[in-house]
Amino acid sequence: MDVRSQVSMVFHLDKCIGCHTCSIACKNVWTDRKGAEYMWWNNVETKPGTGYPTKWENQDIYKGGWEKNGNSVSLKGAGKLRGLKNIFHNPHLPVLDDYYEPWTYKYEDLFTAPEGDDQPTARPVSLVTGEHMDVQAGPNWDDDLGGSIDYARQDVNFKDLSPAEQEVMFQLERMTFFYLPRICNHCLNPACVASCPSGALYKRGEDGVVLINQQVCRAWRMCVTACPYKKSYYNWHTGKSEKCILCYPRLESGQAPACMHQCVGRIRYLGVMLYDADKIHEVASTEKESDLVDAQLGIYLDPFDPEVIKAAKKNGIADSTIVAAQKSPVYKFVKEWKIALPLHPEFRTIPNLFYVPALMPGMATVQDGVYEESNPQFLWGGIDNNRMPVKYLSSLFSAGNTGKVVEVLKRLMAVRWHRRQVTVGDVKQDVVDKAMQEVSLGKETADAIFRLTSLATFDERFVIPPAHREESIEMLESTADVKGSTGFGFREKPARGW
Ligand code: SF4
Ligand code: SF4
Repeated sequence: MDVRSQVSMVFHLDKCIGCHTCSIACKNVWTDRKGAEYMWWNNVETKPGTGYPTKWENQDIYKGGWEKNGNSVSLKGAGKLRGLKNIFHNPHLPVLDDYYEPWTYKYEDLFTAPEGDDQPTARPVSLVTGEHMDVQAGPNWDDDLGGSIDYARQDVNFKDLSPAEQEVMFQLERMTFFYLPRICNHCLNPACVASCPSGALYKRGEDGVVLINQQVCRAWRMCVTACPYKKSYYNWHTGKSEKCILCYPRLESGQAPACMHQCVGRIRYLGVMLYDADKIHEVASTEKESDLVDAQLGIYLDPFDPEVIKAAKKNGIADSTIVAAQKSPVYKFVKEWKIALPLHPEFRTIPNLFYVPALMPGMATVQDGVYEESNPQFLWGGIDNNRMPVKYLSSLFSAGNTGKVVEVLKRLMAVRWHRRQVTVGDVKQDVVDKAMQEVSLGKETADAIFRLTSLATFDERFVIPPAHREESIEMLESTADVKGSTGFGFREKPARGW
C-alpha cells in the first residue's frame, strides 16, 4: 500500500444556480491576461448542451483521455508516436472557434463620438486581432438551453437514448436542464501529465495538484489534446500552456480556491482523500466501463483505519493531513454516503472532482392529485418519471451504469422524504421508513447529509490541510525572482527572446 494524499472536490448540482460567479472569480484572479482571455479554468455549462469548448465530451473529435489497450491503457490521441505523427498538424486540437473568439467593446466611442442624430454605440472588438467583429459564440452561449436545436440536441450524452426518449426531453412542457460547473479534476491518472514530451506537467506530491511548469513548457500542446475535459489551454501570447492550479497559493495559506470561496449556491466542498497509488494502473485498466466507478471508489482509503494511518505516516504524510482527511467532507459524500460520482469515468483519468447528480423536480410528480411519494406503490416513481432520464445522467457520471445513478438518486430522495416528514409531516411515516430501509440509510446519517448539504459552515465545507507557511513564502519568492513573471510563474510577456 502506497498511501498518498489528494485534495479533492465535490460539487452539489442541485444547488448550482448557474450564476457564473465562480467563473468570474477565477478569471479576475488568474486569466485576466493577454493570451488568456478565452480561457475559463472554471466554466459553467448548461446540460443538456455542448459545453465549452464545444462538444468537448466527444472523443471521436478530440481524442482525449485513455483507451483500453490489452491489459493496460494508452493515450487516445497523444503519446510519443501519435504526437510525433501530428507534430506539424494536430487535427485533434480544438481551434479558437471551438472555444470562441474573445472580445471587448470599444467603450471609448461612447465618449468620443462626434455629436450627431444617432446614439453612439460601443462595437465589439476582437481581443485577438483588435479588429471589429460580429460575435458568433461565447463560453456559455447555450446557457439555459438557449439555441437548443443547435446545442442541446447535439449533446453527446444522448447516445444511449432512443429518438423517442430524446424527443420527450424536448417537449416544451417537460423540458428541463441543470448546470454543470467544471474545473480541472487534478486526476490521479492525468492524461495531460503523461502526454507532455517536455515533462513540464507534474502532480505535486503533497496534495496532488496538477501543475504546468512555465519554464519547461515548450508549446507542444499535447496536454490540450490529451486532457479529455479540455482543461489545459494554450496561451497564444506567451507560447505556453496553462491550466487551473486549484489556487494553490490560497490553499497553502489556508484559504479556499477563489471559485469555491465565491460560490453563491455554496455547492462546493473541498477536502483531503487518502488513496493507494499502487492501485492507479489497475483502476485505470478496469475491464468493463460499467465497473469504473466502483473501481475508482476502491482506490480511496479509510482515514480512520490504523493500517492506513501507519502506511500514511511511513510515506511522510503529516499528522495534520491525516486529521484533515478524517474530517474531509469529500470523503463523506463520496465514500461514506455514496451520493457523489465522478464526471465521465470512462476517460480513465481517475478524476478527483465528484458531483452529486441533480435530483431536480423528480420529487414533485403528482398522480391523481396526490404526490406520488406519499403512495408506497410509487416509492421510486419520481426517478422513473424524472424529466432528466437516468440514462442521460449515467452517461455523464457512471460510464453508462444506470444502476449507480439510481442508487444515488434513491438515497437523495430518501433524505428529502425524511426531512419533509420532520419539518412538514405530510409524508406517511411507513413510506419514509421503507425508503430509508431500502437504501440502508439511518436517520442520523440522513440528518448529517441534510446538514452538510444545507446548513454547513465555511469550515465544514472546506477542510484544508495546514501547510507550512514558510515553505509557501519561499515558493512565492522563488517564482517572483523570474524576470517578467506574475509571481506564480505565469509570464506577462512572450517567452521568445528571453
Ligand atoms: S482534468 Fe485534464 S488537465 Fe486536469 S489533471 Fe485531468 S487530464 Fe490533466
Ligand atoms: S458560483 Fe456556485 S452557484 Fe454560481 S454558477 Fe458557480 S458553482 Fe454554480
